[in-house]
Amino acid sequence: MECESTNPSDRIDRLVFDPRTELAEHATHFGFYTCPKCQVKTRLQRTDFATNLTSKISPADRTVLDGFYQVIASKSHLLESSLDFYCPGCRLVVRIVYECVEFAMGSYYYVMQKVLELQLPTV
Ligand SMILES: [Zn+2]
Repeated sequence: MECESTNPSDRIDRLVFDPRTELAEHATHFGFYTCPKCQVKTRLQRTDFATNLTSKISPADRTVLDGFYQVIASKSHLLESSLDFYCPGCRLVVRIVYECVEFAMGSYYYVMQKVLELQLPTV
């Protein structure tokens, strides 16, 4: 299985999700991940990165992720926070690695660190 590690700015059009700027602007900020294979965009928002996941993004399933974890073990770190999902267009497995930064007690903003992509073998 091929696993690519990519700079997040090559794939995501917003690299920081910060509730303080959302509050100041009275708006929910969205970012879009663009799939390199099929160009389909997946919408991201701050709650997708919150630890009490209320994400609307369909999570990649366990069996796939077990294989994914083995492939990326040398490229990733156990303590990283990550969001795993399938591209809705082509089922590319995507992991967005991000940093949680606490700016007040229990309040976080999220900084995108890298993107890992795994092309599953076609069945
Ligand atoms: Zn795709």
